[in-house]
Amino acid sequence: MINEKYLKLGTNRSTIRELFEFGKKLSSEIGSENVFDYSLGNPSVAPPLCVNEGIEKLIREYDGTKLHAYTSAEGDIDVRKNIAHYIRDTFGAEAEAKNVYMTAGAAAALSAALGAIVTEGEEVITPVPYFPEYRVFAEEAGGRLVTVSAKDGGFGLDTEALGEAIGKACAAVIINSPNNPSGKVYTEAEIKALADLLKKKSKEAGHPIYIIADEPYRELVYDGVNVPYIPNYYDNTIVCYSFSKSLSIPGERIGYVFVSPKAENAKEVFRAVCGAGRSLGYVCAPSLLQRLVSDCLGKSADIDIYDSNRKMLLEALTSYGYETEKPEGAFYLFVRSLCPDAKEFSERAKKYGLLLVPGDDFGAPGYVRIAYCQDPKMIERSLGAFKKLSDEFRA
Ligand code: PLP
Repeated sequence: MINEKYLKLGTNRSTIRELFEFGKKLSSEIGSENVFDYSLGNPSVAPPLCVNEGIEKLIREYDGTKLHAYTSAEGDIDVRKNIAHYIRDTFGAEAEAKNVYMTAGAAAALSAALGAIVTEGEEVITPVPYFPEYRVFAEEAGGRLVTVSAKDGGFGLDTEALGEAIGKACAAVIINSPNNPSGKVYTEAEIKALADLLKKKSKEAGHPIYIIADEPYRELVYDGVNVPYIPNYYDNTIVCYSFSKSLSIPGERIGYVFVSPKAENAKEVFRAVCGAGRSLGYVCAPSLLQRLVSDCLGKSADIDIYDSNRKMLLEALTSYGYETEKPEGAFYLFVRSLCPDAKEFSERAKKYGLLLVPGDDFGAPGYVRIAYCQDPKMIERSLGAFKKLSDEFRA
């Protein structure tokens, strides 16, 4: 018998995917030069040299049979040692290979991490706006996603509101900084306040409440903004990292889970991550990719292109009367819709070839997301369309 839950999940495409597919259809009708597809967060900058050169080198020099063979379920031990070394060196956090579990991207990392620490009926709390797949991952782990509004007039962490939402049933808080879709980077003061709150709440609950730090955009920051490394502020932290965006290789599917050794029962939490990974079939992340990222640690695609896209859009859109916060990281602008219903706004934008994702799925109705990881020439061509759209609403 077909599982209805999965049938539904597999049938209902996300709004982002719907828009992306619509864009392809529209391109065939009106020409791709007239379609301005801002829907997907697919990196538009070439991977750094270490990626293609590294693949060639691995194929040339690595023992071919070993390169394509299974690694251990947690990942290759030398790769995990290198990542732990990188974490120690870069962030000054304690880390060893035995705390690192290789995964097929952040999606698998989040699923394994949530599976490890959420039990039936528990809550997973996340501030708004948030990555829509959190709900799917939390529910698959047997939990329930609870969302907490951001501070009025911005997308900062509202510790007070989080404090009201977090009770005994809370297993974890997912933090995504730099944030998709707002581009917000939580400050050190915000992280410290969250850490203090969770220490207090864990004590009251009588069990640890974990922070799951979802970090696919860690390296994508502008103007020298600092992204605090959460294990340095809160012991019960599990980092879910991905190389998808930093190395521009999202289709290759590689990342890891790092359980801070300072977490309560860190050893058991790590074994539970292994068990959750096993139950999901997420064992032995792609072997060639494991070796590749191990040689590319600390490298990143040229983010200057995203930065100039960000500036070009920000300047043009604000001059046309759009309201948005200046994003500090990632490659998204989160813009206030020009009418109360962002879905209607997104529909009306299509007339000008603009594909903008309504914020509703991110828990922020009234906004649209613009993924500016695009060819700068497309962005330039799209500015007139943004102007016409704004004029239509202001007429
Ligand atoms: N978390 C966030 C906030 C994301 O934006 C994404 C992808 O866009 C993911 C997780 C999943 O990343 P990955 O491609 O590494 O699975």
